[in-house]
Amino acid sequence: MANNDGAIREIRINPIVPTESVLVATERSLRPKKAETGIPHDDREWVADCPFCPGNESRTPEAIVCVPENGPWAIRIVNNLYPMLGDELRPSSLQFGLQQTIDGYGRHEVIIDHHHHGVALHEMSESHLERLFRSYRDRMAQLYATDERIKYVLVFKNFGPAAGASIPHTHSQIIAMPVIPHNINAELDHSLQYFQTHRQCIFCALIDEALSLEATFYDQHSGEQLRKIDVGQYVVERGRRFIAIKPFASRYAWEIHILPQNHHHDFVATPDDDLQDLATVMKRVMQRLDAVLDGVQYNFFLHSAPHSADDHHHAASYHWHIEICPRTSIPSGFELGSGLFANTVSPESAAQQLRDVVLAANETPP
Ligand SMILES: [Zn+2]
Ligand SMILES: [Zn+2]
Ligand SMILES: [Zn+2]
Repeated sequence: MANNDGAIREIRINPIVPTESVLVATERSLRPKKAETGIPHDDREWVADCPFCPGNESRTPEAIVCVPENGPWAIRIVNNLYPMLGDELRPSSLQFGLQQTIDGYGRHEVIIDHHHHGVALHEMSESHLERLFRSYRDRMAQLYATDERIKYVLVFKNFGPAAGASIPHTHSQIIAMPVIPHNINAELDHSLQYFQTHRQCIFCALIDEALSLEATFYDQHSGEQLRKIDVGQYVVERGRRFIAIKPFASRYAWEIHILPQNHHHDFVATPDDDLQDLATVMKRVMQRLDAVLDGVQYNFFLHSAPHSADDHHHAASYHWHIEICPRTSIPSGFELGSGLFANTVSPESAAQQLRDVVLAANETPP
C-alpha cells in the first residue's frame, strides 16, 4: 500500500506463479547502499589471452556452429569446457532412503555472441542481434531433434561479474537437460490451470491489461475504491511484434520481460521476420537499462515451452518470453532465508525512468 510520501511497502504476488512473491519496500532504498560491483565495463575489442577472441579458436573445443559458415565468424557455438551436464557420463541414477539423483545427462554449450570481446548487447547492431537470436533458435531445434532424452533446452546469458559471468568476452549459454527446471514447470502448470479456468493464456491477459489504460482496485469487502493504477505505465518498449513490460511483481529492481504480442508458446517456431523485431526491441530495452544504470550487469533467460511429446498441451496456455534481470544488489539473508524477493525500487517509478530515456538515433554499431 502506498503511504503519504509515496513509499510502498507491500507483498506483490507473481500472477503467473502465485507461490512466488516479492516484498516491495521502497523506503529501504534510502538506506546507505552496500558497495555495488562497479567494475568498469571492459570494452576492449580484442584481448590477446582471451580464449573466445578471434585467433584463439584452438583454445576452445571445436566449433559446433559457425555463423557465417565460411570466412571470419560473427558467432561461434562451442562445447563448454567445464560443463554442468555432459553426454559422456555413465548413467548414475541412484536412490537411497529419501535421497534420489537423476543422471546429469545433457549438453552445455557456449555461444560466443560476437567476435568483438567487450561489446555490450545494446551496442550490437540489430542485424547482428537478429542473427544471434536465429542461432539460439536453430541450435535449440537441433538439440531437441537429436536426442529424445533432452526434456528442456534453456538459453541464458550472464553479463558482468555481478551476474556470474566467469569469462568477460560476451557470450550466452545453452544447456540441454534431462528434466524441466522447477521454475519453468511452475510457469507451465500455473498457466495451464489459468487457461482451464479462463480459456485464455495468462500472458496474453497480462499484455492486454498492460495495453489497456487503467485498472481500478476495490476493497474485496466494502467495495470501496482503493486506488487506480495506470497499467499502461508498465509498458517499457513496444515494437511491431514484441512488447517489453516491467512486471508489477518485479523480483529485481530493473527486471523487464519481453514477450511476443501475439500468442506463441514456442520460441523455436519464431519466423525470421519476428526475430528482426525482437532484435529491435531487445536493443532498445538494453539501451534504456544501460542509460539508467550507467552500465548494466544482468542475467537473461529465454523461457519457452518444452518439446517432448507429452508436453504439447501447453501450446494454448504457455507464452514464451525473455526475462531480463539486471543485477544491482546482492541477495540479502532476508531473501535467502525467506524465499521472498525484496525489491527496493517501485516498479512503477522504474518503468517511468526507463521510458524517459531518450534513445539516440541509430548509429552504425559493430
Ligand atoms: Zn575475447
Ligand atoms: Zn499468450
Ligand atoms: Zn519465465
